Amino acid sequence: MPELPEVETVRLGLAPVMEGAVIEAATVNRPDLRIPFPPRFARRLTGRRIVALGRRAKYLLADLDDGNVLVMHLGMSGSFRIETADGGKIAGQYYHPRTAIRAHDHVVLDLSSGAHVVFNDPRRFGLMDLVPRNGLEDSPHFKGMGLEPLGNALSGETIAGLFAGREAPLKAMLLDQRRIAGIGNIYACEAMWRAKLPPTLPAGRLAAKSPKARAKAEALAGAIRDVLAEAIAAGGSSLRDHRRATGELGLFQHSFAVYDREGEPCPRADCNGIVRRIVQSGRSTFYCPVCQR
Ligand SMILES: [Zn+2]
Repeated sequence: MPELPEVETVRLGLAPVMEGAVIEAATVNRPDLRIPFPPRFARRLTGRRIVALGRRAKYLLADLDDGNVLVMHLGMSGSFRIETADGGKIAGQYYHPRTAIRAHDHVVLDLSSGAHVVFNDPRRFGLMDLVPRNGLEDSPHFKGMGLEPLGNALSGETIAGLFAGREAPLKAMLLDQRRIAGIGNIYACEAMWRAKLPPTLPAGRLAAKSPKARAKAEALAGAIRDVLAEAIAAGGSSLRDHRRATGELGLFQHSFAVYDREGEPCPRADCNGIVRRIVQSGRSTFYCPVCQR
């Protein structure tokens, strides 16, 4: 499943052809994805100008000029591709091989920028919805969602506040979308390694009043911000199905320190640890038992 950096790289790929463009035609090829499309979906999109393309956690948000937001989620296997009006590729960019199966093209937006933006989703766990901008935070997609890890809100202090009194392991707390939204398995593992924190640490320890605990919480906040920013700069991680909207491969998987590296040496210069894999809440956690303690 794509994580936040992958969704952000898709946003960066789509923004140049979507922002400022008018949706001249919308084709919706089925009644639903994971949830039904909103009523009169194609008609309500047609003629609207896309004011801005933003993101909240793993949702893409296209602000329309009628005050609604087109909310889009990639689910497990969703992807966008961009075609030009004459059916050709955009120069220097690539198609995602999977999207050659046109039967999985569920939504096509013909834009005044000359681009056709095609949403393809073989497994149909993705979704699209229309939500009024002024009710967005209270809509079912976003109600109760945790803070945005790339915003200015994430700090050692906010992490301490979110984790205070929690006995659950740090890894589980990082994956809890009601606290911090958009961190998945890969980047949780990488952030804990960078901050030298064990995945089994009771999360509440980071909320202790000691200078040491404060320093750890601060290190974790910095590690989350850094790993997400570096992953976005690398175009995300190309695992299984993920491609950027342009079809190009993200490169961040080559920078994993611990994720999917069980049995390999810890890459930290002064550490002789071997990366270990454990299972927490049914998911693999990769960490270094020597420097993360
Ligand atoms: Zn190590």
